[in-house]
Amino acid sequence: MEDCGSSDEDYYYSSDRDSLDGLENEDSDFQWAPSKGPTTKVITKESLLAAQREDLRRVMEMLSLREHHARTLLIHYRWDVEKLLAVLVEKGKTDLFSEAGVSVVESEGTETPMSSSSAAMCDICMEELPGDKMTKMDCGHAFCNDCWTEHFVVKINEGQSKRIRCMAHKCNAICDEAVVRNLVGKRHPDLAEKFDRFLLESYIEDNRMVKWCPSTPHCGNAIRVEDDEFCEVECSCGVQFCFSCLSEAHSPCSCMMWELWMKKCRDESETVNWITVHTKPCPKCHKPVEKNGGCNLVSCICGQAFCWLCGGATGRDHTWSRIAGHSCGRYIEDCEKKTERAKRDLYRYMHYHNRYKAHTDSFKLESKLKETILEKVSISEERESRLRDFSWVNNGLLRLFRSRRVLSYSYPFAFYMFGEELFKDEMTNEEREIKQHLFEDQQQQLEANVEKLSKFLEEPFDQYTDDKVMEIRMHVINLSVIIDNLCQKMYECIDNDLLGSLQLNTHNIAPYKSKGIEKASELAVCRSSKASTTTGNCLPSDCGTSGKRDRSFSFGSSDDSGCPSPKQPKKESYGGGFFDLNLPAEVLDRN
Ligand SMILES: [Zn+2]
Ligand SMILES: [Zn+2]
Ligand SMILES: [Zn+2]
Ligand SMILES: [Zn+2]
Ligand SMILES: [Zn+2]
Ligand SMILES: [Zn+2]
Ligand SMILES: [Zn+2]
Repeated sequence: MEDCGSSDEDYYYSSDRDSLDGLENEDSDFQWAPSKGPTTKVITKESLLAAQREDLRRVMEMLSLREHHARTLLIHYRWDVEKLLAVLVEKGKTDLFSEAGVSVVESEGTETPMSSSSAAMCDICMEELPGDKMTKMDCGHAFCNDCWTEHFVVKINEGQSKRIRCMAHKCNAICDEAVVRNLVGKRHPDLAEKFDRFLLESYIEDNRMVKWCPSTPHCGNAIRVEDDEFCEVECSCGVQFCFSCLSEAHSPCSCMMWELWMKKCRDESETVNWITVHTKPCPKCHKPVEKNGGCNLVSCICGQAFCWLCGGATGRDHTWSRIAGHSCGRYIEDCEKKTERAKRDLYRYMHYHNRYKAHTDSFKLESKLKETILEKVSISEERESRLRDFSWVNNGLLRLFRSRRVLSYSYPFAFYMFGEELFKDEMTNEEREIKQHLFEDQQQQLEANVEKLSKFLEEPFDQYTDDKVMEIRMHVINLSVIIDNLCQKMYECIDNDLLGSLQLNTHNIAPYKSKGIEKASELAVCRSSKASTTTGNCLPSDCGTSGKRDRSFSFGSSDDSGCPSPKQPKKESYGGGFFDLNLPAEVLDRN
């Protein structure tokens, strides 16, 4: 459903039309599968209702249900329509309904209020009241309005809006939301509003495939994915994140690896380890003293000399075998081993961390560099030259950014993949070594090519002759293809030979996307003449702002084609848009 984006594509496409280049642009080199358009959707405050109604509508139509029953069912099945249908097929309608607490009454109008002529007794407060002061739920249980209201207020305040059960003993039925809204609204309008908001937000809170964007301050959006929750996505606010764990995008690290890595980086424990390995406190002034050289007699700046082995204060002279005024001779091998081990672990961590950090830093630097490169492009475009097409610069930059990410996150991945913390018993040492070499070979190849690409993009091509620019252009295009392939291969290796070969693989990684992290498209809420056909109760939160909010919604792809979304972001100027990393990759890559 990229309907609404099509104008943008035309827009970018046209910028390329007057290319005087005889050479094919990299589009032909990149063998990317034809795009289906993003399957991830941004759900805004405005489109939340429509998103929810899409699912409600399906269930209502399939089971000929009223809206509030459909909602109760969907809340029970956590908005998983497929699961709901599976239960229907497996257990039948009656079980499906009773498990979710839905009691469908065949005859209409059995609920609210009962005829005023007949008086009845409320079993809760034991008062005899006229029928119009009583309310009967779908399940058949009737109580007085005061008792119901009190019950609802308590439940809403307890945060249980989404499943308020009937008051009758052992009755499993979920109360009709219209009754709740009506009774609570009479005395506590604010609470009724809260109730509606909870119902509406259930679509996000209870839905495995929908999550709030983790931006701070919060952009107000939620993201809905299809099929695969192990993916990375970009919200319309520009924040990119791992859909599964909501932290920054970290593929090819698994969520667990990333969490461990972040913790490790945060922990001062490594530094603490370093200090314990390399220093000992002076027995006199307690400052940490570093040992330099092999001699076990160390001295502090305070003048105190002490024995490195036991930490005890000593005299200042020593012989080969003993230190003056001191005879410990203590040498605990075990202790030494522990020290060695801590040292080795620390060096290992430092090895991976240094490389991880180097690429993260390069990424930051190169992101800043895009301004400078933009300048070079505009200078080049103004020159008297037969070269007009500089889209290769942009494509090269995007490739550089994407591969930098992969590279930097590949280090924490390797740290855990080949370390002992997670997969100690999964591989023999021999296997581990072979696999590590395989992976490191790929990593190094990728690294070398990424650095080359970076170097070419930094060249002052705006001062070069056409021939030289063409040469750089060819290098950039070729390297981009090579790098894309190498990234692809690295992920294949991870999938097939590394994580894929584990007995018990609980590590899912977001797949490699040649075009970068997918930008979620806005869920189409089209303004059309078609009125809402919902038969159920209109949520007050919807009615209250009906002037602003769209009441109609689309259910299929046929409905929203060519319909301009009112929330379509404004077109940016050519320069700004050209280098905007947050643009959908397919728009940019068409240049
Ligand atoms: Zn009562
Ligand atoms: Zn009941
Ligand atoms: Zn956001
Ligand atoms: Zn994650
Ligand atoms: Zn000292
Ligand atoms: Zn000495
Ligand atoms: Zn000693």
